[in-house]
Amino acid sequence: MEIVVIPCLYDNYSYLVVHGKKAAVVDPSEAWPVMKVVDDRGLKLSAVLCTHHHHDHIGGLPDLLDEYGTLEVYGFFQDRKRIPLMTRPLRDNERFSVCGLDVDVFHTPGHTSTHVVFHIEGHLFVGDTLFGGGCGRLFEGTAEQMVHSLDRILSCGKQSRIYFGHEYTELNLRFASQVDPSNPAISERAARVGEMRRKDMPSAPSLLEEELATNPFLRIEDSSIIDQLEKEQRLQSTDRVAVFAALREQRNHFS
Ligand SMILES: [Zn+2]
Repeated sequence: MEIVVIPCLYDNYSYLVVHGKKAAVVDPSEAWPVMKVVDDRGLKLSAVLCTHHHHDHIGGLPDLLDEYGTLEVYGFFQDRKRIPLMTRPLRDNERFSVCGLDVDVFHTPGHTSTHVVFHIEGHLFVGDTLFGGGCGRLFEGTAEQMVHSLDRILSCGKQSRIYFGHEYTELNLRFASQVDPSNPAISERAARVGEMRRKDMPSAPSLLEEELATNPFLRIEDSSIIDQLEKEQRLQSTDRVAVFAALREQRNHFS
C-alpha cells in the first residue's frame, strides 16, 4: 500500500491510497491534480472517501464522476444531504473494504457535527479534525466534542501516521511555541518543517508521536501550558475541556 500526497487549491491536501493498481482518493478538493496522478500511473480509481462536506474537501467530486463513471462515494450518513453525490453512507465504527484494504470509520464531531476520520492500516485521514501542530476550528461542534474526537484519534497508537487536510503546520507551530515556550520539541519540529516547506515538500504525514510532543491541542494536561494560560488569566478551570477551549479561542485570534 502506498499513499500519495496531492496538493490541491491553495493549501489543501487530497490523498490517493494506492493498492496494486487500485486507488481511492480521500477528500478530492479538485479533480485534475488527482486525475493526473491516477492517469500517469495507470491506476483504476474506484472510491472516494469524504471526511466532511466542506467544498474544499469534496469540490472535485462531480468532475471525477464525469471522468471515471461509477465511483463509490463514502461519507458519514448524517452528511447525505450535504454530500449529495454520496453512494455509501457510513455509521460510526463501521468497517468496510476499499481497494482490498480494511477501512475503519470514526465519527469525530467538532470542526463539523458530521466529520469522520478514516483509519487504514495505521494511516489516519483526519480531514480538518487534527492538523500538524494544531486542530480544526469549531464550526459546528463544542470543545467537549472536539476533545473527545481527538481522544479517539489518540487511541489509535503513537506510531499512526496523520494525513491532515491543510498545510497549516508552520503557523500552528508558531502558535505552539507561544503557548508552550519551554518545549524544545516545538522549535526542532519548526526548523524541520521550515526546511521542508522551503523545498515545497508537504509536512504531511506526521507521526502521532510527533503531534503528542508538539501539538498544544494534544497536550491539554501539560502543566507548563496550563501555567502559561493561567498567567494570562485565560482559564476558568484546569479541566481538559476548559484548557482546550482557552487554547482554541486564543488560536482563533492568532495570525
Ligand atoms: Zn473543513
